Amino acid sequence: MDKLLVGVDIGGTTVKLSIIDIHGVMKTKWEIPTNTSEGGTFIVSDIAHSVEDKLIALQIEKDSVQGIGIGAPGFIDVGKGIIFEAVNIGWKNFHLKDEMEKAINIPTFVDNDANLAAVGEMWQGAGHGAKNLLCVTLGTGVGGGIIAGGEIIHGESGMAGEIGHITSVTENGAPCNCGKKGCLETVASATGIARLATELLSEYSSSTLQEIYNQNGTLTSKDVFDAAQEKDALAVNVVNQSAKYLGFALGNLANALNPETIVIGGGVSKAGDSLINSIKEYFNKYAIPKIAKETVIRTATLGNDAGVYGAAWLAKHK
Ligand code: ZN
Repeated sequence: MDKLLVGVDIGGTTVKLSIIDIHGVMKTKWEIPTNTSEGGTFIVSDIAHSVEDKLIALQIEKDSVQGIGIGAPGFIDVGKGIIFEAVNIGWKNFHLKDEMEKAINIPTFVDNDANLAAVGEMWQGAGHGAKNLLCVTLGTGVGGGIIAGGEIIHGESGMAGEIGHITSVTENGAPCNCGKKGCLETVASATGIARLATELLSEYSSSTLQEIYNQNGTLTSKDVFDAAQEKDALAVNVVNQSAKYLGFALGNLANALNPETIVIGGGVSKAGDSLINSIKEYFNKYAIPKIAKETVIRTATLGNDAGVYGAAWLAKHK
């Protein structure tokens, strides 16, 4: 039997697990809740027991598992597998690699979850094996991963790839969780898109979004994309603004990194072609013509599985 890999993606509410062979074929996937009580002390043993139970159920010898890859949020020393801080989970200076190897006796490798989502898309998703790839995830926040020459770019202290905190040159804008103002995240995340629309309501009294807001007391990014589909002027304006900032950030990143493919994932990317097409339009304006012509921009294809594919790739690659 081909050697197998275990891919794990630790999130604030669930841990996603999978068994994937070294060719990237997923054998099975499942989830367990993330037990964040007592500073996340139970998470490692929960994962170890769950993996061992699954191997027994599938009659897979432990020896045939080559390694475990784990994606985790927060700031990580990837060499030592230490999580400096993951606020949602409760870990602080947590030796994830060592703890997991102690618990299950299989070599374990750790990286940032956004980086591994990028790798997952490179290996088995929209990246189609591209060795130079940018991945931007538009969810509650804006995450990013940069792959150059087939390797994850970590930077000097593991902070590389924070695409969401590229900041508008005007320096005006809404406050961001990172402490700055006007970051890409404040205008291109689901939260940011809903906020932009809410702020513009008073200028577009006939917008259908006004009715939705009156009814629900709030707007979601999905409301905005649905309304944009129906050519609602307010919604079109907001989607256009988000696309402009994304096109600006990605165009300039592409000028520096010359990726083959840019993959756009996360909940917001489900808005579909209209968003991608608008991003492309602005991207072409900001990228050097040769780069604009040659860079492919596509929607992510792996959805929530990108992280476990990337984690399995990490275990294989290391
Ligand atoms: Zn920021």
